Order: sequence, then structure tokens, then C-alpha cells
Amino acid sequence: MKRFCTFANCNQMNFLSMDNITDKTQGLNFLEEIIENDLQNNKYKEIITRFPPEPNGYLHIGHAKSICLNFGLAKKYGGKTNLRFDDTNPVKEDVEYVDSIKEDIKWLGFQWAEENYASDYFEQLYQWACVLIKKGLAYVDDQSLEEIRLNRGTVQTPGKDSPYRNRSVDENLDLFQAMRAGEFADGEKILRAKIDMAHSNMHMRDPLLYRIVHSEHHRTGSKWCIYPMYDYAHGQSDSIENITHSICTLEFDVHRPLYDWFIEQLDIFPSHQYEFARLNLSYTVMSKRKLLQLVKEGFVSGWDDPRMPTISGFRRRGYTPEAIRNFCDNIGVAKRDNLIDYSRLEFALREDLNKRAKRVMAVLNPIKLIIDNYEGEEALEAINNPEDETAGTRQITFSNTLYIERDDFMENPPSKYFRLAIGKEVRLRYAYFVTCTSVEKDEAGNVTAIHCTYDPLSRGGNSPDGRKVKGTIHWVNAKDCIDAEVRLFDRLFTEEVPDKAEEGKTFLDYINKDSLQILRNCKLEKSLSDALHLEKYQFERLGYFLVDYDSKPESIVFNRTCTLKDSWIKQQ
Ligand code: ATP
Ligand code: MG
Repeated sequence: MKRFCTFANCNQMNFLSMDNITDKTQGLNFLEEIIENDLQNNKYKEIITRFPPEPNGYLHIGHAKSICLNFGLAKKYGGKTNLRFDDTNPVKEDVEYVDSIKEDIKWLGFQWAEENYASDYFEQLYQWACVLIKKGLAYVDDQSLEEIRLNRGTVQTPGKDSPYRNRSVDENLDLFQAMRAGEFADGEKILRAKIDMAHSNMHMRDPLLYRIVHSEHHRTGSKWCIYPMYDYAHGQSDSIENITHSICTLEFDVHRPLYDWFIEQLDIFPSHQYEFARLNLSYTVMSKRKLLQLVKEGFVSGWDDPRMPTISGFRRRGYTPEAIRNFCDNIGVAKRDNLIDYSRLEFALREDLNKRAKRVMAVLNPIKLIIDNYEGEEALEAINNPEDETAGTRQITFSNTLYIERDDFMENPPSKYFRLAIGKEVRLRYAYFVTCTSVEKDEAGNVTAIHCTYDPLSRGGNSPDGRKVKGTIHWVNAKDCIDAEVRLFDRLFTEEVPDKAEEGKTFLDYINKDSLQILRNCKLEKSLSDALHLEKYQFERLGYFLVDYDSKPESIVFNRTCTLKDSWIKQQ
């Protein structure tokens, strides 16, 4: 993306070409500034970033922001990005998640240089823990987690030293080895760094390094029963991979002194941590724990439910990688937490789909339109994509029996109604002008069919004599259209910030009960019978759609990705 500086800011630059004033000093985000500085000062030869997911759930749009940032920076500065699974917590992690994460990153359009696992480094991390013990910088503590918590003190008061804090190096080494050998039960012992129980930063008050967890790990099996804590594993894993810029979200800024402390004490490659504001999106929740709860408790059909803010959900919903990447770029990189409006994501989506989606006609809520003076059948030409000449045209069939939207007819229309009503003329898209003459009704008085006559001279939808019609409506040919189910989605939550902590409520109290609407009697133009998964369509006047994974040749299912305009603005 090109960014331009204002003239006031670029007088110190030379004006060789417009390109010279983009991306140089102005318009850089703070991470780009840091990297450009580091490169100028020869601090690193190559920029290496990493994306470090914990494989305990599917990736969501917040992760997409982190992915775009990490891969984007490395790409911009000729470096590389590793994928590192932060798999230090055997209880919650699973291969299913590892696979989905890889699939999602690839789908977003990024390729990692190395695929690594923190668990690959367990031996090295263990050895480094022994180094810290030998330096008198780590000890085995017998206190329970509860005691440790109580003795940590508060922000105002210092913590209390553990009674085990002054064990000898030899005793600590023996005990740590015994922990590894499985001689203790979960929680019986813990390895802690020996820093300062009165430190103003609570994370520096003898943080935990290793805990005992007798549990199978999805990669290392039962080889280990001690597992490193996040803080201990993360920075050292970065260092092993020579990560230059370790980018994480803001809540980790208080962990940074500890990150630096380990690297300094172990005297290993100096990776540096930088924090940016996590992406918060309105009308959704983004923590994997909460998303898992939505899945487990059946509020959605799975991680890839099209209403989920997961990458797989967006994919199934019909989002494109380009739309998601553009969105992530457009919102920029903030240093302070903020809430991004969902409509910005939809804006990026519409912009992209408008360019690529093939236009077709479909009727979601059909009523028959009978043209009494038309005989036979013919093919008419329809434009596939007015935004893309190379998309060409297609033939659509026309007969005397069509379906139109029920909404496009009114028996007693208000004055500004430009669609069909008795005595009124409209244009049928790509076809003819028709004038409504009468309706058929059932016993209850509901309109069951609409009758009209057509003007043969208006073929192609062109006025034969300069007379104007204000409304153009879409239709399908009842004689060869196909039946389909169409799923319409709305936001999953009714509140902008569903996980705000309101008295006695949880995010589940704000679920939008009408977020899924299934229409079972939809009529699609014939060309859609061989629509492919992930192919994008615009149903004219209705929105963007694609075939759902549930679709079968005998029972076609489409999802609506989004409407053509932001219908939410009106509702608010
Ligand atoms: P969650 O709270 O959803 O479980 P997490 O931070 O625990 O998220 P990880 O798998 O640890 O998830 O995250 C992998 C990377 O993605 C981390 O670097 C993390 O900072 C980043 N990340 C996670 N959520 C967001 C977000 N909302 N916005 C930006 N980056 C994020
Ligand atoms: Mg995490």
C-alpha cells in the first residue's frame, strides 16, 4: 500500500519521484520505524519475525492481524517469518488445531520459512534452566501454587521469600532432575527464577519456570512430565531461532523485563520484544477460550460456522484472503487498545468482492410472475461483471413464467414505490418492460401469482420510445431454475462489546438469537447448478453469496457473505 506524506513533513527529502516520498520516513508504523532504524544501524543482517500460535484453538481475525503484521514486515524488509507452535501446555493442545492453523495461514497467502515447535526446544530449555540453577538464579520451590500466589504480595506490598529459596545449587539440580524423572506428582514442586520478591514488577517476583504436568503431549508423548511456562519458553525459543523482532500484543509489555532478563542471564541471541495493540472487533469475541465455549455449547455449528470470527469461519462465509489482508493493513498498527468497527471489515470485503464476484440472478422469496402475452422461450444476454470486462457475458433463458421477489410487488403501494403494482410498469433485468395487470389469490386472500403483459419492443431492457421506468427487478425463469437453500447471517452478538463485564452477565447473554436465517424455497438461475465451492457470486440486488460445504447436487446450499450495502447502519 502506498502512503503519502504531507508536504510539510517531507521538505528534508529529495523529490526525485513520487515513489521517493512514499514509505520512507512518513507513514511508517512504529514497528517499521524500529526496523528501519535497526537496519540502518546494522543491528541485524536480516529481519526474522515469527508467528507463535498456541495450538489450542482455531485462528481468529485477531491472529490474522498478527500474521499480516509479522509476515508483512519480514517481506517488506527482505527477511523471513517462522511459524512456531507455542506448544508448552499439553492439556489443551491438539493436532487438529496445528493442522487448521497451517491451513489458515496458507489460505491467507503467507508461507513460513521454518515450521517450529517450542516442544522441539524442550531439551535445550531444560539445559538452560540448569544453567540458571548453577548460577544461583533458579530454585525448586515446594510451596503450593496457592501459597506462591499469597506470598507474591501486591503492587503496594512486597512479596515474601519462599522458605525454599535458599536451597543449595546441588540440591536444586538434584530436585530439578527428579522433577524431570517423574518422581513427584503434579503441583508438588515447581522451578522458579530467583530474582527479587520485592520487585516493583510483579512478573519479576521469582516467576515460575517449570511446572509438573503428568500428561501426554501431542508431539512429545510421555517423554516429559515437566513443562516450561510461557514466559520462560517464549523468549528463549525466539532466541534459538534468531528472531530479531518478536512482536506480541500489549498485555505482554509487563513481561518484557523478564524476557530480557532470561536472555541476558543466559547470554544468548538478543531477540527483542515489541508490543502492539491487539485487534478488538465490535460485535464479536476473540478469545479462543470463549470461541471454544460457543462451539462446545452448541451456539454455533463448529469453529468454521460462518458467523464465527475465525479465519475458517470467514472463509466459509465467503470472505477472501485479499479482503482480510486489506482490512488488516487499513486498520494500521496501534500502540493503544481500541475497538475496530465490524463495518470496516465488511467494507474491505465488499470492495474486493465487487471486483471479483460474478453477477447472477436468484430469487430468495419467490412469487410467480406470469406474462400472458408471451409465447415460447428465448435466450437473453446478461453481463457477468460490469467491473471486469474480461468476465464476458452469459445466456439466460426467458419464458412466460418467472419468479420474482415477493417484496418486489405490492398490492397497495405507497407513492414512492417503483417496483411492481397493478397498473405499473417495471424493467425485468436484461429482459423486457412488463406491466402488471392482475393477481391470483388463495382463499385466505394471499397473492399466489402476478399477471402482466410485456412490451416486445423493449427487449434487453431498453426503452422502445423514450418512456422511462423507474424500477428494475431481478427474476429467474421458472421453467429451468434450480431450487436451493440459502442461509443468511447476522452478527453473532447484539452488543458492541459482548465480553464487557456487566453485572451478573457473560458474553453468552448477548448472543443474537436471529443470527441465522434459513430460506428453503429459493430459486436460482440455471447457471448456478454447477457453482463451485469458494467461487464468489453477486446475486443481483441481494448481496454476495457462495456455495456452502453442506451443499450437494440434489440439495444446493448457498451462504450469504454480506449484503450489498451496510444494512446495519439503518438499524442502529
Ligand atoms: P486468545 O486470547 O484468543 O487465545 P492468544 O494470544 O492466547 O489469543 P496465541 O495463539 O497465543 O493466542 O496467539 C498467537 C499470536 O497471535 C500471538 O503473538 C498473539 O499476540 C497474537 N494475537 C492473538 N490475538 C490477537 C489479537 N486479537 N490481535 C492481534 N494479535 C493477536
Ligand atoms: Mg496465548
